[in-house]
Amino acid sequence: MTLPTSRRHFLQLAGAGLAVASTGVPLPGHAQPAATIAPGPVLLNFNECPYGPSPAAQQAARDSIAGSGRYQFALAGQVRDAVAAQAAVAADHIRLYPGSSEPLNRAATLWTGPQAALVVADPTFETLGDMAKARGAHVQKVPLRADGAHDLRAMAAAAHAQPTGLIYVCNPNNPTGSISPPAELAWLLANKPSATRVLVDEAYLQYSDQPSLIAQVAQRDDLIVLRTFSKLYGMAGLRLGVAAAHPDRLRELARLGDNPLPVPALAAALASLHDPELIPQRRLQNARVRQATIAWLGKRGFSCVPSEANCFVVDVQRDGTAFAKAMADNGVVIGRSWPIWPQRVRVTVGTEEEMAAFRQAFAKVAGVPV
Ligand code: PLP
Repeated sequence: MTLPTSRRHFLQLAGAGLAVASTGVPLPGHAQPAATIAPGPVLLNFNECPYGPSPAAQQAARDSIAGSGRYQFALAGQVRDAVAAQAAVAADHIRLYPGSSEPLNRAATLWTGPQAALVVADPTFETLGDMAKARGAHVQKVPLRADGAHDLRAMAAAAHAQPTGLIYVCNPNNPTGSISPPAELAWLLANKPSATRVLVDEAYLQYSDQPSLIAQVAQRDDLIVLRTFSKLYGMAGLRLGVAAAHPDRLRELARLGDNPLPVPALAAALASLHDPELIPQRRLQNARVRQATIAWLGKRGFSCVPSEANCFVVDVQRDGTAFAKAMADNGVVIGRSWPIWPQRVRVTVGTEEEMAAFRQAFAKVAGVPV
């Protein structure tokens, strides 16, 4: 990949006053990027948090290394208890995994197969669907509504039309960042086939002000809610995820094999959970940068699905794959297209400085003014 506009070069342009002005609001302490000038391209492709683990989480992870020769099961218990207390559920309704990909894969293995279909939105995060397909399950894709919400009525109908093991609801959705409102989720839970389980993936929920469904696992045994420390907490490379469900469901998931947790991730997670400012500050910063970017695109005629997460999908009005390649050639790596929307691409919300680089590259590739 050639990088005619390297990030460093862009920052030189910015310093020369050629970059678009930022929103002018100082970054809150927790939102400070780890390194302002990093070599290489701007990475807006994997919905990672550009700020990384919080300073306290980084310190806790560093401090934990010396004790990492032990499994530290007690520390894992502390993190589980802290997650349970914040979610207002009993600790036996929470199980931790090294990332939320693992319970997603386990859920597909357990609850989908040749006689148990999976119903998902289209587009959505594909890990669960890929695993279900590999298990021989029929994966029924239901297009998102025009407002970006899951079409939960159509998804329930699809689940009634064939033996369905699992319905997957990603809220906010990846790639769109769009929300499915709580009243509609309640309707789904009341109207789905009784034997079908619902997995709600809340990987991005902390970026929105939508309520979590996690407390509802205390009332029902057919709901699994997943969370992750990979997104707002900035711990994608450290690996920690949460499965919340009735203890019977958690036991079924756990029966597929034990896998102790990385100690630095546990230490960083505990420090993150104990910081009451981290979620509101990062949520605010992300919303500010996302809204400014989407407004900039809108003024130039490029529409986005409404997003409440750290990603959004923009209609680039031409082949999305070629557009993403041209962006990468200009030093900004964005996400990909989904087959249902070949002219739209996913973009991760980065720092203000990264999104200024995004605007520069986008303007050049799309042929619009900065
Ligand atoms: N769920 C969603 C919706 C995601 O977008 C991702 C990662 O991008 C994951 C789950 C998996 O994240 P992790 O395994 O890092 O927790």
